[in-house]
Amino acid sequence: MALAEIETEALVLRKVEYGDADLILSLYTESRGRISAIARSARKSRKRFTGALDPGSLVLVRYRPKASGAMETLAQSSLVDAHVGVLTSLVRIEQMGRVLRLVEKLTPERLPDEEIFARVKHLLGQLDRGEAGEPEVLTFHLGLLGRLGHAPELGRCVACGEEAPPGRPAYFDPRRGGIVSRRCGGGAMLLSAEALDAMREALAGAEPAGPWSEEAVAQISRALREFTRAQIG
Ligand SMILES: [Zn+2]
Repeated sequence: MALAEIETEALVLRKVEYGDADLILSLYTESRGRISAIARSARKSRKRFTGALDPGSLVLVRYRPKASGAMETLAQSSLVDAHVGVLTSLVRIEQMGRVLRLVEKLTPERLPDEEIFARVKHLLGQLDRGEAGEPEVLTFHLGLLGRLGHAPELGRCVACGEEAPPGRPAYFDPRRGGIVSRRCGGGAMLLSAEALDAMREALAGAEPAGPWSEEAVAQISRALREFTRAQIG
């Protein structure tokens, strides 16, 4: 079945050089979700592919979607925003890399989600302008997990269902998927009331509700890293 050519904004998640002049790309597109695509002769043709296709770049791509699960072939791309401001800071480079890897790892192929696209595009813009820090990146991480149905359980014990009230610390077990009450053995990590409340607020909204202490950032960062590894791989 021949499908009509589409044009969509896309974020470059990963780029691999292939053969003499081709590029193989992992893209998160606005209208088609995450796709793999080949840009033939992209390293030679400045006519069809204007501007670099580097990870973190926002581009406009045109292609004719395949009906099957095969790799797409880009007909054209043009650069919208390379987010070069990120390159002025090693911290921001690492944060952008983490965001791109999360989107690549967590989002299913060919399942468009305009909300996720809008959030990652917004966050990369903030990182570019130096307006986002670790709370914004971690809030994005939590929001992405939540949007995809993988949110950690932060309201009650995953074993017995006992409520974990706001304003109280609680044990968190990344492998069991959330809070575990003391009665049920607790968890490997004790999260402070501040960290837990910040995580709950982050799951409910797209932006951090208030400033996070360094201690809370460290706890949330470790909890999310271990939770994502244990639950998703
Ligand atoms: Zn319990």
